[in-house]
Amino acid sequence: MLSTMQDVPLTVSRILHHGMTIHGASSHVTTWTGGPEPERRSFAEVGGRATRLANALRDELGVGADERVATLMWNNAEHVEAYLAIPSMGAILHTLNLRLPPEQLVWIVNHAADRVVLVNGSLLPLLAPLLPHLPTVEHVVVSGPGDRALLAGGPLADASTRVRVHEYEELIAGRPTTFDWPELDERTAAAMCYTSGTTGDPKGVVYSHRSIYLHSMQVNMTESMGLSDRDTTLIVVPQFHVNAWGLPHATFMTGVNMLMPDRFLQPGPLAEMIERERPTHAAAVPSIWQGLLAEVTARPRDLTSMARVTIGGSACPPSLMEAYDKLGVRLCHAWGMTETSPLGTMSNPPAGLTADEEWPYRITQGRFPAGVEARLAGPSGDFLPWDGESAGELEVRGPWIAGAYYGGAGGEPIKPEDKFSPDGWLRTGDVGVISPDGFLTLTDRAKDVIKSGGEWISSVELENALMAHPEVAEAAVVAVPDEKWGERPLATIVLRDGASPDYAALKEFLAGKIAKWQLPERWAVVPVVPKTSVGKFDKKVIRRQYADGELDVTRV
Ligand code: AMP
Repeated sequence: MLSTMQDVPLTVSRILHHGMTIHGASSHVTTWTGGPEPERRSFAEVGGRATRLANALRDELGVGADERVATLMWNNAEHVEAYLAIPSMGAILHTLNLRLPPEQLVWIVNHAADRVVLVNGSLLPLLAPLLPHLPTVEHVVVSGPGDRALLAGGPLADASTRVRVHEYEELIAGRPTTFDWPELDERTAAAMCYTSGTTGDPKGVVYSHRSIYLHSMQVNMTESMGLSDRDTTLIVVPQFHVNAWGLPHATFMTGVNMLMPDRFLQPGPLAEMIERERPTHAAAVPSIWQGLLAEVTARPRDLTSMARVTIGGSACPPSLMEAYDKLGVRLCHAWGMTETSPLGTMSNPPAGLTADEEWPYRITQGRFPAGVEARLAGPSGDFLPWDGESAGELEVRGPWIAGAYYGGAGGEPIKPEDKFSPDGWLRTGDVGVISPDGFLTLTDRAKDVIKSGGEWISSVELENALMAHPEVAEAAVVAVPDEKWGERPLATIVLRDGASPDYAALKEFLAGKIAKWQLPERWAVVPVVPKTSVGKFDKKVIRRQYADGELDVTRV
């Protein structure tokens, strides 16, 4: 028997319409400009401009259904407008990661066959030299400050005759502020994002209208980020990194004010933004919070407006949580992936606990929401109990979890065996344990676990323990080959200003917390931990530096 309920598709155009009417006058997107005043636009203005953008893309650039429109942009109001306009008109928003090496960007744009690129002027030095290698790109739309001359003449002459260049503001000026939004099938593609591709070619995840809508509702739920129109969220996590964790769509749906840092991502400007605009929430990866902590330790600032922060993308060291607790800011750990939209877990402890009792829950990756089912696959393929002890590879499924990757124009979706189980669950590549009450603790990436003499050592556990030492600013631990044990841990550490390495003391410091046989005997001080394009420790680089003899390793 079918239900008697209306079958209304869950589409991004409905998020757009709702946000710009119900929250139109009262909620705002504020973009940091680096000038005396940030730029503030109401949701009504943002929605109106998004509608004009859709008209311009269709009428002037001929963008039709399913065509990919790429963005190479910082977090700002224009990028939010693109987030709303492109999917709503039936085209596909393709966010480009501006920190990728140029050859990967070229590969991704060509694979997606993007026809239009919206770009911030400040990123033209990155885009312009690539254009001759991007045969599908016909239009470039530029917004914000930057040197337009980079797009004409010289070695780019070929490309610039093929590519038409538009000014964003001129393009949308005077266009209609209504659009007859198509009634799309909610399962059609709305947006795409490529994984950062630490091994092999990047893989394209294609989000549907339905997945974005449902994910937005989950982000808004109290058990997740729980934001309302009384909140302002500082969205530091880039819009090119899993759609800024889904925040632009989720906040537009709920009337949450957005504070967008644009290109001002350094600790100094971030501290100033927080002090002046007083956001109540923020979202970013741990390396951003490490940097801000150093900044406010050197030059104290009032961060207390920002009562809650969502932190994820890599493991949050408990010592970082403690440091922010002292500043009146609660870091709330979340886990997710490009393939999971990304909200997979959030660590809100169960009700009725004291601060001390909450602590063991806070340092986990968190609890699965109703839309995410999870299981742990053991080494022999059997599924492990949720007993807080049995460690296996996490597999998930749900309405906002990828079931395949984009196969390229005309190609079938790809389902690599190491990424999807035969019954369609996503194999996350993350290894961890789940407690009986559904809290996930990740112990490592499957490829980063140190396999020493048939036993596993968690690199993350060693890193967290090291980063709790007052003289250690950052620590990354990788597996290196060892004749006797197969693999052993190498600890690379960044010391705080003025500290000098005392490896024996560090080892002693770890000894109470970590089993003796797991303690590293190879140590190196490094000036910085190499990071990936989305701010995670790049362990591949550290392993290569070690193999090439570039690290000054001491054995203790
Ligand atoms: P990405 O697709 O670039 O967002 O990367 C996803 C991966 O980041 C996950 O598979 C995890 O390995 C890692 N990750 C994300 N959030 C966390 C977290 N809270 N703790 C530990 N690792 C995380």
